[in-house]
Amino acid sequence: MKLYLIYGGKSAEHEVSIKSAHSILQKLYYEYYTVIPVYISREGNWLKGSVVEGLTDVPEFEEMNQTDTKEAFNFIEMLEGESVAFPVLHGPNGEDGTVQGLFEVFDIPYVGTGVLSSAVGMDKIISKSIFKDAGLPVLPYQEVKLTDWKVHSGVVMDDLETELGFPMFVKPANLGSSVGISRVLDKDKLKEAVEMAFEYDYRVVVEKGVKAIEIEVAVLGNEDIHTSVPGELIKHKPFYDYEDKYLNQEVIRQVPSDISDELTKELRELAAKAFHAIDGSGISRVDFFLTEDDKVYINEVNTFPGFTNNSMYPRVWAKTGLPYEDLIEEVIQLGIRRHKDRL
Ligand code: ADP
Ligand code: MG
Ligand code: MG
Repeated sequence: MKLYLIYGGKSAEHEVSIKSAHSILQKLYYEYYTVIPVYISREGNWLKGSVVEGLTDVPEFEEMNQTDTKEAFNFIEMLEGESVAFPVLHGPNGEDGTVQGLFEVFDIPYVGTGVLSSAVGMDKIISKSIFKDAGLPVLPYQEVKLTDWKVHSGVVMDDLETELGFPMFVKPANLGSSVGISRVLDKDKLKEAVEMAFEYDYRVVVEKGVKAIEIEVAVLGNEDIHTSVPGELIKHKPFYDYEDKYLNQEVIRQVPSDISDELTKELRELAAKAFHAIDGSGISRVDFFLTEDDKVYINEVNTFPGFTNNSMYPRVWAKTGLPYEDLIEEVIQLGIRRHKDRL
């Protein structure tokens, strides 16, 4: 079977995606697959790398994003013979249902969540309202529409202050990796934060800020789903931005988290519930806040979380008993099975 490993992409998470793809290439079961790496450049060009038939063919990390050594990718070749697509893409245009829709249209099995769950998971406003409907604990939040903001930003800011209070978190509705997000402590900074978020999206969400630890639970499965032991982000500051997360590697991950068995059980149940609520299939990482007085809130579902061998998603699975190479094989099989089962 041909496996198209698609990585890179136009989103801000381009770099992380390359790292995940490179990690995956080193752990695939090559006895089952002929792997065709497809690199999406920052400009959005799809480029085909050299075919990888075994570990000795895996490109060096530096070669992963070289554009001059790769030919333009002709999508039609995926329709010849048996193919499976593995989109290792984060953020808009990759994790948000758009690429998933492309594979649906061409009837190609693909790894990861489907169109609906990808789109819902990417949208911080829609997902919160779905979580609320499903009875999941969500922090108070308000949507800010660009039209309202343009007409009367003063009134909008007064409302935000009354409804949420400070600190607040201001976020573009559709993005990831902390891009465009600010933590706002007083009214003076609110305007700037909302305007910055509007640079990334025409919809903005503002949330009540909490002092909390962050716990992440991995979900895996289609109809039959499994949850992992929880992992914890050890924080040294109230908010990690993109640089902290990916460049400075400031985030320390504790796997498993040492929260109580009761809380672990509760979070695993909530993670499964959130996955069902968005009609998840394949994989997702469900992120929670746990406050000092043991209150739990769901923050978000990431339908294609970081996937290097050192990322939280593979690490919590390894601790749960599923090593990285078996996890990779399992997510591929889940994609193939969904395609068969849901015709
Ligand atoms: P992204 O999809 O970019 O990861 P998040 O909503 O997870 O966006 O926000 C990024 C980070 O900002 C979180 O991991 C957390 O550290 C912090 N954060 C976000 N919202 C809140 C909040 N309401 N209260 C406290 N911290 C928050
Ligand atoms: Mg996210
Ligand atoms: Mg997050």
